[in-house]
Amino acid sequence: MIIKFSSDSTEENRSQLRKFLEENGFSFNVVRTQSNLYGVSIGKRQIDIRKVGDFAGVKDVFRVSDTYKLVSRKWRKDPTIIDLGDGVRVGEGNFGIMMGPCSIESEEQVRDMVNFLFESGVRIMRGGAFKPRSSPYSFQGMGLEGLKMFSNIAHERGLKIISEVLEPSQIDDMMPFVDIFQVGARNNQNFSLLKALGSVDKPVLLKRGISGTLEELLNSAEYIYSNGNERILLCERGIRTFEGAYRNVLDINAIPVLKAKSHLPVIVDPSHGIGLREFVEPVGLAGIMAGADGVIVESHARPEEALSDGQQTLNYSESKRFIEKANRVVQLRSELNNVGI
Ligand code: PEP
Ligand code: MN
Repeated sequence: MIIKFSSDSTEENRSQLRKFLEENGFSFNVVRTQSNLYGVSIGKRQIDIRKVGDFAGVKDVFRVSDTYKLVSRKWRKDPTIIDLGDGVRVGEGNFGIMMGPCSIESEEQVRDMVNFLFESGVRIMRGGAFKPRSSPYSFQGMGLEGLKMFSNIAHERGLKIISEVLEPSQIDDMMPFVDIFQVGARNNQNFSLLKALGSVDKPVLLKRGISGTLEELLNSAEYIYSNGNERILLCERGIRTFEGAYRNVLDINAIPVLKAKSHLPVIVDPSHGIGLREFVEPVGLAGIMAGADGVIVESHARPEEALSDGQQTLNYSESKRFIEKANRVVQLRSELNNVGI
């Protein structure tokens, strides 16, 4: 169960409630996020939640049977909207396009991409400075200096940026430069990283694990939320299956199902989702039709020369076509939803 406390609830109120809950066989954790104060209580027995609601300092009580609690839609019907400032929002009616190279490679590449995105109306640029690579001999990213350069150039043109964080020790260094921290598929269950991102006052895009279930993804999001940070975007980026014809299998099912299970926005990543440049567009558009609140897509002026993930990266003309089609699909989706057929 989730207990929402009023802003004037006292320590004394909460300890009385704790005593009552513990006597009835329930655990009780106080969760203080950047904007709210909650109690999360878990127990096997049935309890009359009206009794909990009668305690001083309690504003609302919700029964949530899922293993994850605060990220569940069972208690919060209103979808979460991620506000990045300057009118850039992602979630429920605010479709977010995030585009850019897999890796930040040079100042020239960043300037060129920033201009391209700005002119195409894209407000969020992606680009990894710390890269998790399968081989230790592959390009590992430009590091903090690359991130600073990326951030300065993108921010000059008013673009927001998303970049991957690999470990807790990088958070403070990256903090002034990123607008969204990306947690990659390989770190989906890096609980010390997730906990550390709980105390960060910046949104986090959390990718699904390489063979992760939706329940694991939602519990990983719960780590971030319950450690204080409510601003989370979930990302479907494909999972590993027996199929060898493409890099990953973009799980379209996950999109509507995650949206039904959670109030958090869902982003689709068709680039890693299929891993093949020529099919990024159709599967990305399918993800939008399935209800995604945004897309994250890899783009490069010359994908053949990209230092990572070139095989799944769109060039500018493909990117431009993708953006146009994505916007049209978003429009079509909302028209169909409004017709109510
Ligand atoms: C990336 O976005 O470039 C990346 C490494 O993604 P993932 O964690 O989904 O593999
Ligand atoms: Mn990549």
